Amino acid sequence: MSLPSQDHEFLPPYRLLLGPGPSLVHPRVLHALTQPLIGHLDPLFLDLMNDIQTLLRAAFQTNHEFTIALSGTGSAGMEAVIANLIEPGDRALVGVNGVFGTRLAAMVERQGGVPLRIDAPWGNIIPLEAVQEQLARSAPVKAVVLVHAETSTGVRQPLEDVGALCRAHGALLIVDAVTSLGGIPVEVDAWGIDACYSGTQKCLSCPPGLAPLTMSPRAMEAIRRRRTPCHSWYLDLALIAEYWNDRSRAYHHTAPISMLYGLREALRLVQAEGREARFARHRLNSEALLAGLDTLGMRALPSAEHRLPMLTCVTLPDRITDAAVRAQLLQDYGIEIGGGLGPLRGTVWRIGLMGESSRQAHVLTLLGALEEIVVQHGLPVQAGRAVQAAVDIYTGSRSTTRRSA
Ligand SMILES: *Cc1c(COP(=O)(O)O)cnc(C)c1O
Repeated sequence: MSLPSQDHEFLPPYRLLLGPGPSLVHPRVLHALTQPLIGHLDPLFLDLMNDIQTLLRAAFQTNHEFTIALSGTGSAGMEAVIANLIEPGDRALVGVNGVFGTRLAAMVERQGGVPLRIDAPWGNIIPLEAVQEQLARSAPVKAVVLVHAETSTGVRQPLEDVGALCRAHGALLIVDAVTSLGGIPVEVDAWGIDACYSGTQKCLSCPPGLAPLTMSPRAMEAIRRRRTPCHSWYLDLALIAEYWNDRSRAYHHTAPISMLYGLREALRLVQAEGREARFARHRLNSEALLAGLDTLGMRALPSAEHRLPMLTCVTLPDRITDAAVRAQLLQDYGIEIGGGLGPLRGTVWRIGLMGESSRQAHVLTLLGALEEIVVQHGLPVQAGRAVQAAVDIYTGSRSTTRRSA
């Protein structure tokens, strides 16, 4: 007799998570999540929050006092920043070259702000000149909003020179670092970023549920000087600051205690590996993956200069049926990869090598499985070539095009 499904414990199978998030989670993080609860105002818990703030400042490369882990996923971080910094009537320049820029423009509008979109084709960056030109033409602009790692296209937005431009025009710089944090350099202070948020389930390799967030003194001052209170009570950063940063440690909402245990451990792992080693690991594995995919006729959407190492977006050869192959990968091999979003639906794959997911063994496993499947689908590929191309990168027998970014 089969039991109704809710009558037994849910025991998920092991999946090799190689999509656009969530990424694989280290056993030490899973273990931290199972520890006994303590109260969210327990002195030991307040110490743990301090540890997280210190570790997050290192991850964001910032000294900003307001550096916290907000309750909610990356989108909560996005909404908090927009809801607190954009008041009705405020103009915000938003770079739109994928799903997340589109979402940011919608959030600005919902707050009563005026989104001034700078559109670029999906797969391209937002050119600095376009930002410069719009800033000059549309003054006053409250904020410039850019997505560092556009997860829908695999594009890395250069940010080194935007901060100075924003300051010259009295605008705040808001950056989405959901996918980039922990996988490529995010230099909040050096790049003059005023508000930067991330998510836990991408390159930090923690389950989804928290949004690391840092705000500059300039951004906090803009919040203090609001004409009207933030329309969201739950995401009001002035109130949340009283819990995270004020001596009063005033209760606002109950912290997601177990999630914060998990994040502390995930950030300790990030720190122990070291920034350069972690970035180099992400670069090498993506290079090996691309070399393998190339033998299967799959090419990266963004140009080499602006490609993200943690999210590889490739166009599919004609004979590959997107959904069927991804379903087979999941059913027969337990491997998850991502499909295209919006206009890219059905024509690209998004393969994530984020945090714990970015490992040589995973690259070789995926390429081996893909080779088997595409041969079954009648593609004229020579079995073994994709894996060999990746192995050649790892053994250094093929010249690599290593990039500094
Ligand atoms: C995943 C993602 C988000 C949204 O994060 P959620 O955790 O899904 O809410 C926002 N921006 C970018 C660039 C992302 O990749």
